[in-house]
Amino acid sequence: KELYLNGAFVAPEQAMISVMDRGFLFGDGVYEVIPAYAGRPLRELEHLERLQNSLQGIGLAPPLSPSQWSPIFRRLLSETPTADQALYLQITRGVAPSRDHRFPNAPVPTVLAMAKPMKQRDPAVAERGVEAVTRDDIRWLRCDIKATALLAAVLLRQSAEEAGAEEAILVRNGLALEGSTSNLFIVRQGRLITPPKGPLLLAGITRDLVLELAAVAKIPCEERDITAEELRTADEVWISSSTREVIPVTRLDGVPIGSGRPGPSWQRIDRCYQDFKADLRRA
Ligand code: PMP
Repeated sequence: KELYLNGAFVAPEQAMISVMDRGFLFGDGVYEVIPAYAGRPLRELEHLERLQNSLQGIGLAPPLSPSQWSPIFRRLLSETPTADQALYLQITRGVAPSRDHRFPNAPVPTVLAMAKPMKQRDPAVAERGVEAVTRDDIRWLRCDIKATALLAAVLLRQSAEEAGAEEAILVRNGLALEGSTSNLFIVRQGRLITPPKGPLLLAGITRDLVLELAAVAKIPCEERDITAEELRTADEVWISSSTREVIPVTRLDGVPIGSGRPGPSWQRIDRCYQDFKADLRRA
């Protein structure tokens, strides 16, 4: 299965990057993950807009415009046209002559894109929900940049794994912000609440879609801070991401959330989300 690297489509075995690449040496790069259903990327322009924001955040000029990305996506997805796949894009500040933190004068970015199969959700997730743990948010203060430097997220996600949980929900200054790889929603008294966008969390494309679907479903929504206490005493807790969609969290730090079962608001939103995907597949 070929991938895209710096203007060419190549077999993965042929895709080589220098050890002097700043992505390798410093994690000096940004990325995107775009889900695609039967060859149709979900919210392609929104993902590419976020990529532009991430690039701007690290002071790197966009190497490709949205209209240049589109045919690359089509080609990568065309090998398995009916499958659900995730596009992975990564742009680094490229190769520099020496390992120097300062930007090179005329950076030539390394641009990678590849498609991989997206696995179906385990039916047990919809039936029982998943377990999450809370962790101190040890990440930096620019979580709105989708940076490839993911060491804190790696450690947090692994810590959740070792606790037998699906996700680590991150708390900073008493506020629950998002998961290590997902956004956060709670339901209290029939109202859907998610933290506002800002530098301390990633503006999830799925998050925005969930808010839109909730508005259509007439579920009242609020974008406001969520305290760790509100999280624990919520009626429902959900996490969202492009590859995991919307997942109900039914145990937090070993304690049941609400009824301990996926809640009625989640059932409604999940139905809307699955319908949205089905429409996209048919589009
Ligand atoms: N927050 C973080 C930290 C993430 O890594 C992700 C997924 N990459 C998300 C939120 C969800 O974003 P999206 O819905 O765009 O996949």
